[in-house]
Amino acid sequence: MRTVSRLQRALLRWYARNARPLWWRQQPMDPYQVLVVEVMLQQTQVDRVQRLAPLFLQRFPTLESLAVARLADVLQAWQGLGYNRRARHLWECARIVVARYGGQLPSEPEKLRRLPGVGPYTAAAVATFAFGRQDVPVVDTNVDRVLRRLLGLHGASSRQIEQRARELIPTGYSVQWHQGLMDLGALYCHRRQPQCMRCPLRRWCLSAGQGGEGSRRATSEPCFEGVPRRLWRGQLLRAVAATGELCWEEAAQALFGLQPTAHQRAWLREVAASLCRDGLLCCRDDRLCLPD
Ligand code: SF4
Repeated sequence: MRTVSRLQRALLRWYARNARPLWWRQQPMDPYQVLVVEVMLQQTQVDRVQRLAPLFLQRFPTLESLAVARLADVLQAWQGLGYNRRARHLWECARIVVARYGGQLPSEPEKLRRLPGVGPYTAAAVATFAFGRQDVPVVDTNVDRVLRRLLGLHGASSRQIEQRARELIPTGYSVQWHQGLMDLGALYCHRRQPQCMRCPLRRWCLSAGQGGEGSRRATSEPCFEGVPRRLWRGQLLRAVAATGELCWEEAAQALFGLQPTAHQRAWLREVAASLCRDGLLCCRDDRLCLPD
């Protein structure tokens, strides 16, 4: 028990002096703003979210303003963040919260998880960072990696990690504790080459000095001409948003230049179909446009 409280104090002290100066930590954020930032952070790099989150929140400063917006405008404001399905989910989420909860996001992770695009991590992060819940473990990839190494639980299931994460939360300091673990994972406890000599937890860590993981896990995302499909999706959406609508030929030229090959045209059809399936794009009268 004493060991745990020493470890907790060591991390909280380190965090107090070394916290990353992230935009969303430097001003008061309401639960809606926390949700927007957490959804962005799901799949977009921190630097990019720092740059684009303030612009998105300027455009849609409240949950109500997002709920009444046109999806096409939301998708346009999302440009640069990638994985556009999240923008649609966020928009649907705002409409549901207005209809079901009178515009107030619920604080319970179980209710948050029922909203579109809100998985276990995002629900836990909103419950903790927006509502100050003290009993909810917030386990993103950084926290997961740090805890597995720290506790020597390399083969543990996510449920086991979550249970241990819950037990370690210092009473009254859940926000700082989790942000400290995240910063430690981002700054020192790297996946490949952890910098254990600089780590404030090395005295207690069961994996200190053992090095990182090997090669990067293979991704199953389809690629075309060496570019992952999500980038093609973003490029097509930007091209359509820039002009309002495009015929197939214009879309093919926007992506591939003046003389697209048959393979390129086929790939365009596949990318467009995937966007249409996700409700991010429409095809009307053989023209591609953003949904209303
Ligand atoms: S001592 Fe090394 S492996 Fe352990 S938590 Fe710190 S950086 Fe990670």
